[in-house]
Amino acid sequence: MGTLGGMDTDIDALVVGGAAAGLSAALVLGRARVRTLVVDAGEPSNRTAPAIGGLLGQDGTSPRQLYAAGRAQLASLPAVELRSGLVTRIEPAAGEGAEPAFHATLADGGAVTARRVLLAGGMRYAVPDTPGLAELWGGAAFACPYCHGWEHRDRRIAILGATAAAHRVALLRSWSEDLVVLADGELAPQDRDALRAAGVPTTEQPVAAVAPGLVRFANGDELAVDALHVLAPMAPRDDLAARLGIATTQLPNGTGIAVADTFGATSVPGVFAAGDAAGAGNVAAAIAGGSLAASGLHRTLVTEQVL
Ligand SMILES: Cc1cc2nc3c(=O)[nH]c(=O)nc-3n(C[C@H](O)[C@H](O)[C@H](O)COP(=O)(O)OP(=O)(O)OC[C@H]3O[C@@H](n4cnc5c(N)ncnc54)[C@H](O)[C@@H]3O)c2cc1C
Repeated sequence: MGTLGGMDTDIDALVVGGAAAGLSAALVLGRARVRTLVVDAGEPSNRTAPAIGGLLGQDGTSPRQLYAAGRAQLASLPAVELRSGLVTRIEPAAGEGAEPAFHATLADGGAVTARRVLLAGGMRYAVPDTPGLAELWGGAAFACPYCHGWEHRDRRIAILGATAAAHRVALLRSWSEDLVVLADGELAPQDRDALRAAGVPTTEQPVAAVAPGLVRFANGDELAVDALHVLAPMAPRDDLAARLGIATTQLPNGTGIAVADTFGATSVPGVFAAGDAAGAGNVAAAIAGGSLAASGLHRTLVTEQVL
């Protein structure tokens, strides 16, 4: 496959997103010699985290290192082309016979026609807008205890926000007993009772700002903390799936693309999804989803029978 250079090009698979899910998919597709274009906007959701926690064989590797290693492996596969860019639109195009086909447009004016599409663009994590929190996100502020709890074990962890406070305390106790709930508003009465019964220090004072090692309240009080647990609901980053009419599903932490099987098939024939966009929630699951969706996609190119 030649470079696109802004021209319309026919390929077998367009992979939207080139991080955990997209690179994993491209590896499998490229090894199966499926002509694949990966377009990646370069903003993996974990880019602010210094290290990936909980990934077998790569525990503690930085996201940047992992994705660079993935891209380097793809360089040896002639069927795969990686392109930096943003896919802004995907529309059904006339395929041969009953074959699906899709026309995709890139922000830089490039365009491509693909027989199959694999959506691996991840999700937007809605971090609370507490001043200073964005700067801590991925480091001292975290949502996934399985990813970052170990790094904050036995430290003072503040649970920020009233939502599901008692549940979060129960969960985080696996990593630290030194917990404090900063509800930043009113707690649900049953949570207030449960936290009191559990002896967990709690305040409903509005939080004005957070900074490394410190929480500042609206009344001027300050509290020293080592880490902050926050909830960050996930939502699609763009309307690519919605415009294709792809069915969605409720995930534990947001709304994502509904996949019909472990091979990432969506409700639109010819379109597959993997990674956070399809509810993965961590790097290991995103890598697995990308791999499986790639094999599902490949099968539909060559046979109607699932082997
Ligand atoms: C702060 C933070 C820390 C985390 N830490 C961990 C951890 O330690 N361990 C763990 O297992 N999990 C962790 N996670 C979760 C993990 O990062 C995600 O589950 C995983 O990255 C999902 O991979 P993905 O490939 O689906 O999406 P992403 O990694 O988000 O990658 C999607 C890629 O697609 C690109 N893209 C999106 N839309 C388009 C488009 N239209 N055109 C072109 N490109 C596009 C994006 O720019 C991005 O590069 C963390 C998440 C966050 C937010």
